[in-house]
Amino acid sequence: MKLYEKTAHELHDLLTAKEITATELAEDVFSRVDAVEGEVQAYLTLTRDEALEQAKTVDARIAKGEKLPFLAGIPGAIKDNICTKGTRTTCASKILEHFVPPYDAAVMEKLAKESPVLVGKANLDEFAMGGSTENSAYQKTHNPHDLSKVPGGSSGGSAAAVAAGTAIWALGSDTGGSIRQPASFCGIVGLKPTYGRVSRYGLVAYASSLDQIGPLTRDVRDAANLMNIIAGHDPMDSTSSSAAVPDYTKALTGDVKGLKIGLPKEYFVEGLDSEVETAVRKAVEDFRAMGAEMKEITLPHTKYAISTYYLIAPAEAATNLERYDGVSYGERIDGADLVEMMTNTRTELFGEEVKRRIMIGNYALSAGYYDAYYLKALKVRTLIQQDYMEAFKSVDVILAPTAPTPAFGIGEMVSDPLKMYLQDVCTVPLNLAGIPGLTLPCGVSSAGLPIGLQIIGKPLGEETILGAAYAYEESHDYKNKIAAVGGEKA
Ligand code: GLN
Repeated sequence: MKLYEKTAHELHDLLTAKEITATELAEDVFSRVDAVEGEVQAYLTLTRDEALEQAKTVDARIAKGEKLPFLAGIPGAIKDNICTKGTRTTCASKILEHFVPPYDAAVMEKLAKESPVLVGKANLDEFAMGGSTENSAYQKTHNPHDLSKVPGGSSGGSAAAVAAGTAIWALGSDTGGSIRQPASFCGIVGLKPTYGRVSRYGLVAYASSLDQIGPLTRDVRDAANLMNIIAGHDPMDSTSSSAAVPDYTKALTGDVKGLKIGLPKEYFVEGLDSEVETAVRKAVEDFRAMGAEMKEITLPHTKYAISTYYLIAPAEAATNLERYDGVSYGERIDGADLVEMMTNTRTELFGEEVKRRIMIGNYALSAGYYDAYYLKALKVRTLIQQDYMEAFKSVDVILAPTAPTPAFGIGEMVSDPLKMYLQDVCTVPLNLAGIPGLTLPCGVSSAGLPIGLQIIGKPLGEETILGAAYAYEESHDYKNKIAAVGGEKA
């Protein structure tokens, strides 16, 4: 097995045992980048020189006999809407084409203490708006398991890099499914933490009451280790939780005996691909065989989740994106006067989907429509939250599909926004409720595409869902399957 095919914890052990050097590892991952990135196109910016310097520093620490933190020397990818000091952060938008942040996001400061090696900044749907990464203003990322398919989105670059072997781990952001759906499409693990568990400081805002940063990894143990690093209170994000951060790896016991699992009938509806349904139902049976208890539950307001999300998220986006005015920062297209300059800038430098959402959002917020749309959506959001709280009175976790279908074809949905929005049916309710969700592979379709199982937890219930996921993963053979892209059979 080549180095780029291993998990972060395996590589950590090899580095600590001095069986490999960080430089060898970085070179191995970059040789994989050279071999397959032309086809996968997961990265908007590659930071090869910095990465090799970072690797050298780690090797010097190993030589001195220092104890290495978990991520030291392990190559990873960062979604390009997370601010990286000195490294371009574009949000896959033309409007931020040359934006180099003068500061690091809180998660980057936390990561820096670990001395990881950063391979580069990963592609996304522009401003994280989308579910296929086709809304990037720069390039389309391809699913490494089948290059004719999308990797999902919006963290499609992060997910594709981890699945293709061009990053061992990645960070993404999830506003309505953007970590979980691409992780599911690419056959890896993705975790959206509880709202407020991870600081949003330095994450370029899409919809601030929904956004969360989280890990995309090759197995559950790596996700738990990454959570240990990035979770925690941050005075720079007043919505971040001050609850103590546990050691998430302690939850990985492999034991789910007596765990109460809820199965929501609203998630097994029309439009759910039959292979996805079969794989998820089989996973439910497997949990039962491992000693978990199963219960049918109902989340009656699920049917309103998409409409609610597609009012609240665009409303917040319209407000957040007001700052791109051609003045404060970002690119500018000049005009005869101020208004014309702003109009030109925003008309030419935002993509179609971003403009669509700004218009929907401003419409929903405008006088006369505010009560009918935005305020109504907020009320329904509360009902959706209450559904979960009611269900969690009798269950510990909820199982569901992550996405209604396996990865779809590039070009198949991008011209039909409504169809694309409906893809988010299983993921957006969690963001509206602020609760955590994890996806891990639970099957492969007849076309060879990964299928994801979603494990939904109570607020701050990350340990329980990681524990359940680990037990499932240990008794199956789906983890860490690097895609055989580029003619190189992994
Ligand atoms: N697909 C959803 C959207 O288009 C979710 C995006 C996200 O989580 N950033 O808004």
